[in-house]
This record gives sequence, structure tokens and C-alpha cells, in this order.
Amino acid sequence: MSDQISEVGQILAQQLATAEDSAAVQEIRTEWVGRRGRITLALKELGKLDPETRRTQGQILNAAREQAMRLINQKLEQLGRVEEDIQLERERLDMTIRGQAPRVGLLHPLTRVRRLLEDVFLRMGFSLAYGPEIETTWYNFEALNIPEDHPARDMQDSFFVDVPHMVLRTHTSPVQIRGMEAAQGKLPVKIIAPGRVYRRDDDATHTPMFHQIEGLVVDRGITLGDLKGTLLAMTTALLGDSIETRFRPSYFPFTEPSVEMDVTCAACGGKGCRTCKGTGWVEILGSGLVHPSVLKNGGYDPQKVSGFAFGLGIERLAMRIFGLDDMRPLYQNDVEFLTGFERYTGRPIL
Ligand SMILES: [Zn+2]
Repeated sequence: MSDQISEVGQILAQQLATAEDSAAVQEIRTEWVGRRGRITLALKELGKLDPETRRTQGQILNAAREQAMRLINQKLEQLGRVEEDIQLERERLDMTIRGQAPRVGLLHPLTRVRRLLEDVFLRMGFSLAYGPEIETTWYNFEALNIPEDHPARDMQDSFFVDVPHMVLRTHTSPVQIRGMEAAQGKLPVKIIAPGRVYRRDDDATHTPMFHQIEGLVVDRGITLGDLKGTLLAMTTALLGDSIETRFRPSYFPFTEPSVEMDVTCAACGGKGCRTCKGTGWVEILGSGLVHPSVLKNGGYDPQKVSGFAFGLGIERLAMRIFGLDDMRPLYQNDVEFLTGFERYTGRPIL
């Protein structure tokens, strides 16, 4: 009798040894002691036997059943502990993993360059001045010595509005006149005027709306030397002191003499390339000594005072600082692009 029991026990032990999870053990349980299990069915057959055999067979089968249940429960308990361990490991919280930081807002690259410029000039004693974006043709053209027949006044170049003598300002220079008027003859006038300007231009390096910053100094005895020193201080602060600059004679209606300032081409380092049309230089701003007529229009006597003025495009300077050859992405609100500038430059910008 004990032989038969131990035989059942051996087969069961072998089956259980290879069961990898509790589902497999449940199958074994069904096979042996389920409603139609091998031991269960054998027990049901007992009724057909004569009383003597039934008694001995009954003892054997009940003992085998008990043993089977014990082995199965042992295995289930063992597997349960293992599965619990696996689940605990799977659900373990690693408190040392860095969380997902919320995206932090940044200033737009053009705002950062504008603030950088403002900072440079405010430290040199300039103050900020502003003017309207919808400007009279007097402030935008006539007062700046730009005559009726000047090409800048053409419909092709400027956005005129449906009101006579009004235009979307084509430059920040009208703030020169407004700044002098506001100073009411006092000296010195020392202002910078950042802001939006509008022209009928649209390609990789021009957009219909862009930003300029205007500078104006009016005082006794202002010379080109003052202009040059001021602009060199700016380029050094913005582009570093290894940058080379040069001043070229030019022409603007509202300055006399007029000069343009060039810096070393960033694309080729001065060797000459397509960006700089082979010259090694890139123009960054126009400037000059304030034209006597402009001083007069601002309420100052050109016999007694002189001044310098300059205007530069913030986009163009941003392209130079960030190494861009197309300014349009600056307006396309691609967050990845707009937040990627520290990577490009390595310069600490605000
Ligand atoms: Zn070049």
C-alpha cells in the first residue's frame, strides 16, 4: 500500500519540480485531485468494489490524496513567495531617479539680444526712448532729411496706411527727432531706441517686420571719434575683443558724414566666402554724424552742437551671435529651435 502512495508522490514531485508558476501547479492539481482528477475518479470507483478491497483501497487513495494536496500546497506557497518577490522588484520605486522637470519658459533669442544691447548702452549712460510704430511721414522721412523722391519712400519699399501722411515706420530713426523734441534743448541727448520696423522685404535675410535699435548722442563737440569709441565698446561687449572692425564711408540722408561699420565675417573668419561676397567683412550697422538739418528739425542749433547716430538690425546681430544663415526660423515658434541657442554659442546671454 505504501508503495503505491510513494509512487504517486514521486510522479507528483517530478511534475511539481518543473512547474514554473502557480498556473502550472493548478493544472497539476486539476489532473490529480480536481473534480475529474485521477485520485478523485479512483475514489468514486470505490463503491463498485467489495467491502474488504474498498476499505484498503480507500485508505491508500485517501493517503495519496492527502500527500498530493500537501505537496501541491507546499509548491504553491513557495511559488507565491517567489512571485511576490518578482512583483515587488517590478514595482520598486527608485527614489534616486531624477524626475521629469517641467519645461521652463525662456526669453526669445531676439529679446535676449535686444536686452544685451540695451544693457551695453545703459551702462554707457544712454537712456531708453520709444516712438510709435505707425508714424507720420514727417518723423519717418522729412524730418530726417529724406526728400519726397527718395527711393525709401516708394510704395514698393514702405507700408503706407489708409491715412494720409502715415506709414508703418521703416526705421527707428524717427525716435531721433522725437528724442530731441522731448529733451527740449537740454544737453546731452543720449538715447537708444529699440523697436519694430516694417519694410516690404521677404527672403532668407529679410522679413517684412524686424527689429532695430537706434542710438543718438547730441552734445557740444561730438565727433566721429566719439561714435567710433561707442560702437567699438558695443562690438567688444557683444562679439568679444578678438573681433575685427572697420569703418567705411557711406551715404544716408540724415547723417553727414556717414559711415558703415563692418565686422569680420563669422562664416569664413575673414578669408572671404559667399556670405561676405569674398570680402571677409560683413556690414552690421549704418551711422554717422547727425546732419545739420536733422539737428534743426529736432530743435537744436547745428552751429552750437553736434551729434552722432547709428542704427542696427537686431535680427542681423542675432544671426551673427547665434551663427544663423536664415532669420525666418526666429519667427516660426519652433520651441526646440528657440531654446537651442546656448548649445550653438556657448556664450552666456542673459
Ligand atoms: Zn565670409
